[in-house]
Amino acid sequence: MSAPEPKTAQLVAIGDELVHGSALDTNSKWLAGELERLGLVVRRLTVVGDDPDHLEQTIAAACAHADVVVATGGLGPTLDDRTREVVARILGVELEFHEPSWEHVRNWLTKRRRPVPESNRRQAMLPTGGEVLANTTGTAPGFAITIERARLFALPGVPREMRTMFSDHVRPAVAALDGLQPTTDLRLLVLGPSEAALGERLGDHMLPGRNPAVGVTASGGLLTVRIVATAPELAAAEALCEATAAELRPLLGDWLFAEGRAELPELVLARLRQLGHTLALAESCTGGQIAARLVASAGASDVLRGGIVAYHNDAKVDLLGVEPDLLAEHGAVSEPVVSAMAAGARERLGADLAAATSGIAGPGGGSAEKPVGTVCFALATPTDVRAWTLRIPDLGREFVRDRAVFEVFRALLQ
Ligand code: AMP
Ligand code: MG
Repeated sequence: MSAPEPKTAQLVAIGDELVHGSALDTNSKWLAGELERLGLVVRRLTVVGDDPDHLEQTIAAACAHADVVVATGGLGPTLDDRTREVVARILGVELEFHEPSWEHVRNWLTKRRRPVPESNRRQAMLPTGGEVLANTTGTAPGFAITIERARLFALPGVPREMRTMFSDHVRPAVAALDGLQPTTDLRLLVLGPSEAALGERLGDHMLPGRNPAVGVTASGGLLTVRIVATAPELAAAEALCEATAAELRPLLGDWLFAEGRAELPELVLARLRQLGHTLALAESCTGGQIAARLVASAGASDVLRGGIVAYHNDAKVDLLGVEPDLLAEHGAVSEPVVSAMAAGARERLGADLAAATSGIAGPGGGSAEKPVGTVCFALATPTDVRAWTLRIPDLGREFVRDRAVFEVFRALLQ
């Protein structure tokens, strides 16, 4: 007996600002993850401008091929917000005025002491046969409607409103479908090899069409091996991922430095939290990036005491207490200096651990002895300070700085 066809989804992100490159479609990234976790197979994401003909073709095509289509954007009060009209045109129905939605829009604006322009009435129009999706965090209501084989959910473009409405309306509707195949993933984080060398090591595991699928992505020298499994039950999908991970771990050996479902900064915070350690940072070439990535994860303050960006030598002296003689003798990019930076940050910020970076990110500033890509690291603990140096390949300033950030995360996970 062949397996039943999986239920599929497509996403349509609508807005001229998205196709002209002035804004990035972050909605689809978020929605794709949510829908896959629920058990839909996401087949295509499309970004389309506000032009009604293009919009009509895109929505109609998505609805002809998927069971669930989630469209975001084009529900505002202005004339370039056309999702409602276009959907009505596809179905050959009228737009109807929905009084309760208009009342919601009016109340929302009045409560905030904002004027209620007549143009906002557009937001209370809805294709005949549509189901209104209430918006509790903004004016524009969304709607759900059936087009061909698909259930189309039209949500506002504003990410905060979109997420709330997804949770309020789309998630329960999708969860009630039958034939869902939940997808889950597990990430193995690797530092060291090139992408090609890693690919060779993984061999057949990366062949297309396998379940779990194994894929590799690269960013600033960090390689992420993502294992993605689909099964009728979430627990079975998780077991499939774990079985593949068990096969891959020995192949990766020392390259593997972390694994989990979360992003790397979250794994670092979780580990330090578990050990009850607080962290301070002294950043030169990474310029605050280590702190920024940790702080991007909500609730980092229980671990991160703070960070000092000490770029100029004077700042290393004044803010971190590095001895000027040490700088004169060894240079800013040296293990003695980076050790003093870490010790200074640990003491001045009152943390259990401190990590420090100082390096030559390029394009200038390299020498024969310390070429571009030379980065010194130190980790101060209550008992000692350990320093080490990496020669990061000079693949550009951004690469060197990213790789340095990941190196600190790697060290903190050991
Ligand atoms: P709209 O619902 O089309 O009026 O969109 C309102 C605002 O939401 C836009 O100005 C964008 O800033 C934002 N937005 C719209 N679509 C997206 C998207 N796909 N990803 C991220 N932000 C978006
Ligand atoms: Mg728009």
